[in-house]
Amino acid sequence: MSSRMRGDSPSGRIIAKHFLSDKVEHFTESVIREMTRQAMLHGAVNLAQGFPDFPAPAEIKQAAQQAVGADVNQYAITWGAKNLRNAIARQTQIWQGVVVDPEKEITVCCGSTETMIATLLAVCNPGDEVVIFEPYYENYGPDSVLSGAKPKFVKLRPPRDENGEWTFDEKELRRAFDRHTKAIILNTPNNPTGKVFSREELLLIRDLCLEFDVLAITDEIYEHILYDGTEHISMASLDGMRERTVTINGMSKTYSVTGWRVGWAIAPEKITNAIRKVHDFLTVGAPAPLQEAGAAALSMPAEYYSKLAEGYRLRRDHLLPALTGAGFRCFRPRGAYYVMTDISGFGFKDDVSFAQHLVQNIGVAVVPGSSFYRDPKDGARQVRFAFCKKPETLDEAVRRLGRLGGGN
Ligand code: GLN
Repeated sequence: MSSRMRGDSPSGRIIAKHFLSDKVEHFTESVIREMTRQAMLHGAVNLAQGFPDFPAPAEIKQAAQQAVGADVNQYAITWGAKNLRNAIARQTQIWQGVVVDPEKEITVCCGSTETMIATLLAVCNPGDEVVIFEPYYENYGPDSVLSGAKPKFVKLRPPRDENGEWTFDEKELRRAFDRHTKAIILNTPNNPTGKVFSREELLLIRDLCLEFDVLAITDEIYEHILYDGTEHISMASLDGMRERTVTINGMSKTYSVTGWRVGWAIAPEKITNAIRKVHDFLTVGAPAPLQEAGAAALSMPAEYYSKLAEGYRLRRDHLLPALTGAGFRCFRPRGAYYVMTDISGFGFKDDVSFAQHLVQNIGVAVVPGSSFYRDPKDGARQVRFAFCKKPETLDEAVRRLGRLGGGN
């Protein structure tokens, strides 16, 4: 038997380890997507994966239908349809006061997921380090590994009481920066905590980026989903950051079209050129007719965005007291559409066994907290709920959670 054959079973069903990339050995499958599969299997209400279960705006769907009808059915320009890039540049100036050249500084990708990995592949070399706040959206870990960089985690600490803010320790953040640091990944408003980084916090991060010559890669996909008068501040709008920031955003969350896969990066020209090259070879381009619909979406009136945020505020304010009543300790989100909860009151071994109980016996799918931490122990007392769902979906989940018997 040759060494290449070692590990093969007679039926050929066991794949030898040497066929696999070492990089892939360093991360597991997405727990968020796995919970959606489990929700379907057990007929559970899916409050795990963050996608709306209500219709997308009619105007946007019409724009997509029209584009298909008008035969916008072949590749768009690799780095994005001109109409969409123009609309992104226009709105970025209106919303953030940041002037962007749509010809040289925007790359449209297949969702912000591809945008993030394309960006990291475009900027990272082996040995580079990437600073990530944790808990973090699970993709950032594998994204860093795939791009050859080493993730370095800095803790966001949960608030003491329900109305407090998640905070980080300035000294711990500083310690994470050194001569190997290539970038910091920042997600504000934040998934999974709902934290909206304040100007003061962003200035602190800005100062470290300048001192250590580090790039900021900011995922701002929840920029319009804000509560309690919080303000979204884009890193690129801060003095000194325009030249060292990649701003990532997309249609998924703002326009309730997570399945369309249209996202984008805004970056200085040289970085954009690198991202465009990676994107071109990864996927060639995002769906052409949906990019035209994206241009229409970005032309929605201002009240569309205030209604979107208000709709999610109502859902948040409906779900949180119900979760508290069912025995969860909630950390009130200031943005995005997730709530992290503390499950200590239920006395389960860990978050995974609790989430399994919820999905199999109670009929509600959530995401175990450990999937947002490098060390699973750090998330063993937490689960995340997504509340981007119809009121009746949330009601049904609350009704089922009543069976938990954790309320006072
Ligand atoms: N961002 C969403 C979440 O955190 C969905 C992510 C995904 O599955 N692509 O649930």
